[in-house]
Amino acid sequence: MPDKETKKGEVLDLLGGKKRKKAEPAAEEKPAATKKPAAEKKPAAPKKAALDLLSRKPKKAAEPASEEKKPEPAAPAPAQVPEPAPQPAPEPAADGGDDKSLSIKAPISVADLAAHMGLKPFKLIAELLPMGVFANPATTLDSDQVAALCEKHGITYERQKREKGAGVKAPVEVIVEPEAKPVEEEPEEVLKLRTPIITVMGHVDHGKTSLLDYIRRTKVVAGEAGGITQHIGAYTVEHDGHTLTFIDTPGHAIFTEMRARGADVTDIVVLVVAANDGIMPQTKEAIMHAKAAEKTIIVAVNKCDLPAADPVRVRTQLMEEGLVPTDFGGDVECVDVSAAKGTGINDLLDLLCLQAEVLELKANPKANCRASIIEARMEQGKGSSATVIVQSGTLKVGMPFICGPYAGKVKTMLDDQGQKIKKVTPGMPAEVSGFIETPNVGDEMVEMDNERSARKLSEERMEELRQQRLTAPRRSRMEDLLAMMGDSNQKAVLKLYLKGDVQGSVEAIKKAIMDIESEKVECQFIGAAAGPISESDVLLASSSDAVILGFNVKVETNAVKAVKREGVQVKIFSIVYELIDQVKDAMLGLLEPETRETVLGHAEIKQVFKLNKGKAAGSYVSDGKMLRTAEARVLRDGQVVFDGKMSTLRRFQDEVEEVKSGLECGIRLAEYNDYEEGDVIECYTLEKIKQTL
Ligand code: GDP
Repeated sequence: MPDKETKKGEVLDLLGGKKRKKAEPAAEEKPAATKKPAAEKKPAAPKKAALDLLSRKPKKAAEPASEEKKPEPAAPAPAQVPEPAPQPAPEPAADGGDDKSLSIKAPISVADLAAHMGLKPFKLIAELLPMGVFANPATTLDSDQVAALCEKHGITYERQKREKGAGVKAPVEVIVEPEAKPVEEEPEEVLKLRTPIITVMGHVDHGKTSLLDYIRRTKVVAGEAGGITQHIGAYTVEHDGHTLTFIDTPGHAIFTEMRARGADVTDIVVLVVAANDGIMPQTKEAIMHAKAAEKTIIVAVNKCDLPAADPVRVRTQLMEEGLVPTDFGGDVECVDVSAAKGTGINDLLDLLCLQAEVLELKANPKANCRASIIEARMEQGKGSSATVIVQSGTLKVGMPFICGPYAGKVKTMLDDQGQKIKKVTPGMPAEVSGFIETPNVGDEMVEMDNERSARKLSEERMEELRQQRLTAPRRSRMEDLLAMMGDSNQKAVLKLYLKGDVQGSVEAIKKAIMDIESEKVECQFIGAAAGPISESDVLLASSSDAVILGFNVKVETNAVKAVKREGVQVKIFSIVYELIDQVKDAMLGLLEPETRETVLGHAEIKQVFKLNKGKAAGSYVSDGKMLRTAEARVLRDGQVVFDGKMSTLRRFQDEVEEVKSGLECGIRLAEYNDYEEGDVIECYTLEKIKQTL
């Protein structure tokens, strides 16, 4: 895909990839409610139309999806359609008579919760709006949201607890989502100091790898194998009685990618700046990424052995970036080092130990074990293995676990010197085998009571993933500001990430935006820099829930893909005042959607048929309904591959107006013929919004 460019006067709204003239403010209408539901923490891929277009329209409340889920017995489909995919069978509603109570396990989809409560999904969707949750029947709700909805209906919500022997009792299997146990709940007395985790960042060639290599070479405790370290993606050193864990892949790309996936493992960032070069573009980027993640930064001013080294100049430049060194009266520790000669490295390690003490990093080694995947690999004959860093609890050989959607059991563990180990405590890395599938970097590995409950949870997560593919992640969008303001007196925060053609315009635009006065909205820049919009920019915006504003810049090809994947809003401008006006309009709540999208249902394509002219999709309606007169889009792995109108809807040989959930049908979409088995057709309507909120 070529890089995107704008022409004069055009505003490009990247999601949806449509260019348009400057938006007309639609002042008379209220916007849709919009907060990102907590349950969508780890979203799957987004879908286009649920994302942003200035004139088109995020989803509002969905219509009640049809409750009918029974597959029609042996329907001779428009083609041979395999057995309908099994629907997640709602557990029996626990409310009986006046004494209503509901014992279920969150997360749960709106449709399923509605079934449990004996309500139509749209009722819950409407009730979720004032709570800032913008849902459709497939949206998953966390236990707090479930509790709030139950309370509204006078139902006692019994959160299911994980118990030993989970899976024994029928019909309701009692397994609690491991995520339901927040680490903060640990009482202070069980918490023990843990090893800090350090990531090295900085501009290319400034000596990140050399620094990591020097520390590893000189500081890793010599093991019995002679201290030969293995590259497993992280290593641990002893210094002055302290243990420090270094992530062995320098740079902010992996750091931000992990954060975007919800795995925020780093405690301290070492920013490497070459003393001869000073601050360079990637140094600025690294600062931005570290600041956005609210990490402590320690600066290693490297290459101080070179005659051209000017460590004072580096400190002055750091001040320009908002990092005031301690020797200039600020709070950012800077240490002059040479990774080539080894000078200053001990001072750097001293500072890291001190900083770790200040941060008081603690974890409960007896807690349920959680670990983050730092690297993962698949080796012929050896199967999948991964480097993990333990967050809490103690990782042990033989431990059953769930990682992403897959169950597993720890088979072997190796430390960074290739030695077999039996347990790993918080903050420490290890190479672990025992994964059924190669996990993703950033996935969390969570201890389960037994293999059976791990497998059960795996099945549920697979189903959840399937459901999530049908829904888009909700990221902040400029149009959502008014809804974010809500009733509270707190200011809504609009996080922005600005990229411009030259530093001068970036500074000018940033200042103009900061000068906009508003009692209701506060603009926060998570970053502002010159240069094209890169994949790393998109990941940073995604992990910080920010909107990207581009001024006269291109969007790199990989970034375009990331935008679609992450659901980040990107707006490109070529005229300064248009950019400023849009931010102003957003702050006044004037960028409002004019129409509302209502998802009617989904159908899975089971088989594709060639017709005389074009193709048809033999499909199974998995939820809601298909309406011939409605709009429809084709989702493949969560990405929208076509968006248009439904042209033909058939049951057997008959043209029909509507096909309900659980039935098979033949679908043709206007001018589209590239259906694939497994695609999902999402049927929806668009309607003009009247004053509804
Ligand atoms: P990275 O891209 O940030 O990982 O940088 P490298 O560690 O690969 O280093 C880039 C170049 O700088 C290499 O040729 C190193 O040998 C050199 N280098 C790294 N640290 C120092 C240092 O402290 N002094 C000198 N003179 N050269 C260094």
